[in-house]
Amino acid sequence: MGTELQCPACGSSDIEVTHDRGQIEMPFSPGAVYESETDRCRKCEMEGDFAKANDKAISIAVAEAKKVSVASIINYLAESGKSMAYIERAFDLPQRTLMRWKGGDLSAGGLALLRLVATFPWTVEVAEAQFNSVYATQRLAHEGINAMSRLAQFYNIDTKVNLSSIEKGVKVDVRLVLPSNLSGCQNTGSETMQPKEVARHQ
Ligand SMILES: [Zn+2]
Repeated sequence: MGTELQCPACGSSDIEVTHDRGQIEMPFSPGAVYESETDRCRKCEMEGDFAKANDKAISIAVAEAKKVSVASIINYLAESGKSMAYIERAFDLPQRTLMRWKGGDLSAGGLALLRLVATFPWTVEVAEAQFNSVYATQRLAHEGINAMSRLAQFYNIDTKVNLSSIEKGVKVDVRLVLPSNLSGCQNTGSETMQPKEVARHQ
């Protein structure tokens, strides 16, 4: 359009520019969407992003998608009873840290923490217990068994899980027999079972 694009190979200004919709997958986000640009030299047929326009568009889109994902993670945690203040207290973060993150002022470390907590929300309670190793181990065992029942339900597998016994520290009877066709290739007819969001939202 206005700017004078030149072919890096032959120097011609006879460039055809096409725009497309580019998308980058990101966790806890619909993804970063941007308008990608492809330049083609009509003289020598060279193709590429001559003005390096895509790098900038991608970094803006990724920053925006991160902001959206942080807000949705924080909202999801709040809906499941973990307020921002509670998370801050548990992880010993200064007050209003999460509000700042939500507003876009977020470090790579902050984003990593939020993604972990969104994946394993019970880690907030482990943090609240000062990372006590006994509590952490009990909690891990509990959540592991819960996860197994969810998996079993998801794959329609018969299980015998006794959750109450683990609290007393006695014996746990867990039987999880996975069928051989777990890859999901075989369709039983009524419903296809694809492993999509097994653990994300319980
Ligand atoms: Zn050219």
